[in-house]
Amino acid sequence: MQAVSVSTQALEPTLAVIGIRRTNRFLAALEQVRAALRGRTIWHINSTAQGGGVAEMLQTMLAYERGAGLDVRWLVMDGDATFFTLTKRLHHRLHGEPGDDGVLGAAERRHYEQITRRNLVSLLAAVNPGDVVVLHDPQTAGLAPRLREAGAMVLWRCHIGIDRINAIAEEAWQFLQPYIELADTRIFSRAAYIPPSIASLPASVIPPAIDALSPKNQPLSAATVRVMLRHIGLLAGAVNGQRRKLPESFFNVKGIDDGVRVLQTQPLPSPGTPLIVQVSRWDPLKDMAGVMRGFAGRRQQLGSAHLALVGPDPSSVTDDPEGVRVYEECVDQWHALPPDARERIHLVCLQMASAEDNALMVNAIQRFATVVVQKSLHEGFGLTVTEAMLKGRPVVASRVGGIQDQIMNGVHGLLLDDPTDTRAFGDAVARLLDDPVLARHLARNARRRAIAEFLGPRQMMQMFDLIHGLNGSNGNVTWEEKHDEGPVALPRRMKR
Ligand code: UDP
Repeated sequence: MQAVSVSTQALEPTLAVIGIRRTNRFLAALEQVRAALRGRTIWHINSTAQGGGVAEMLQTMLAYERGAGLDVRWLVMDGDATFFTLTKRLHHRLHGEPGDDGVLGAAERRHYEQITRRNLVSLLAAVNPGDVVVLHDPQTAGLAPRLREAGAMVLWRCHIGIDRINAIAEEAWQFLQPYIELADTRIFSRAAYIPPSIASLPASVIPPAIDALSPKNQPLSAATVRVMLRHIGLLAGAVNGQRRKLPESFFNVKGIDDGVRVLQTQPLPSPGTPLIVQVSRWDPLKDMAGVMRGFAGRRQQLGSAHLALVGPDPSSVTDDPEGVRVYEECVDQWHALPPDARERIHLVCLQMASAEDNALMVNAIQRFATVVVQKSLHEGFGLTVTEAMLKGRPVVASRVGGIQDQIMNGVHGLLLDDPTDTRAFGDAVARLLDDPVLARHLARNARRRAIAEFLGPRQMMQMFDLIHGLNGSNGNVTWEEKHDEGPVALPRRMKR
């Protein structure tokens, strides 16, 4: 187990974004959980400190919880290549896809449990009876039984699933069942993701959330965005063939220039060039290759628009063994494109050495985008969609998983009924490029919805409420309660 250092972030600025009514709900839930825990620790355990939505969420949520005076810690599991290949197989199958066609048999279970036992040695030495342990995703499920025996309150949170279970997903749930049924409770991002096999056990639905003020989402001026795009090398204007230097204050680490790889024949010619963007891990289910095909096939309808496919440097995401292959397949496909398509498509790999620098670059690219797309074949929730919505970008996304909970088609963005239909995808993007009034309307609604439903305080509040309830207390605080519009009273500890 590796400890991930968690910063401490004051809550007041993020509460200011959500308004007084929701702030009051949040503070009531915080007080309840603080009283219930009485100094006990909340542990979060997942399998990577960087790359992907879970790591993204933990970085900010935990910092705020520490800022609220809770003792919150984050550990990352150790595993070997066989373990991560197996857990990636489980990941695909919980999405209902066969993945690598490998088996989930007795040998796989033995290896899974062996790695689990190894991790338990240090974990059990650190966790005290009464502590709360939140285990994230299939990698950590095996830890639940022993932690519970040791007196911890164990919550297993699953960030993936499919709307209609199939035989492939059922097999993966059977693999996980002996572990997750022994947790105190289970948390899913959508009600539809709760598998029938555990439908009789306690479970909660808590959609994920983003942080409006993190480097990933903090406001950036248009001028700053342009400077950053030039720095990344995506926008023309590099000085003497060199990437534009950024003011020192932008980035923490030196040598960032070495960390950005852009595969392109030339940068975007001007800041006015329309840019379509998908930000994703290099994962087959994100269908970066399909986005490229859809764009290239409809390029005549897309005017002068360019496409940027943006992902982490695939070699740096430790729990995702497929990243390198998927990226290389995209590169091969890019080389095989006709020249007039290739010169409008950019493949961007962002370094992950500093999570903050990576986040700022993603932020700038999302803000620069004319249209943000997320053409996933399956999606747990789709934080990249939330990020684009908060930034007031018009979105075209697949009608899959949690994306449907975020976007109502034609209200907060455009949804694709069939994510494999690259023609419909190209048409939807063309529609937004051709109709800026519609694009602005969708983007405005999207931003409002992201602020109302998908920011951190709502998610933290649901977690607090759940822990409070499991602790034997009652008295839930609901996010949208109608009473109590009084002024916000900050607890003493939070006063400046
Ligand atoms: N992300 C990032 N850098 C990248 C690519 C992705 O920080 O180069 C972030 C992205 O902004 C989002 C998260 O990784 O916050 C992906 O979360 P999502 O729910 O969209 O997908 P997941 O990777 O969890 O399947």
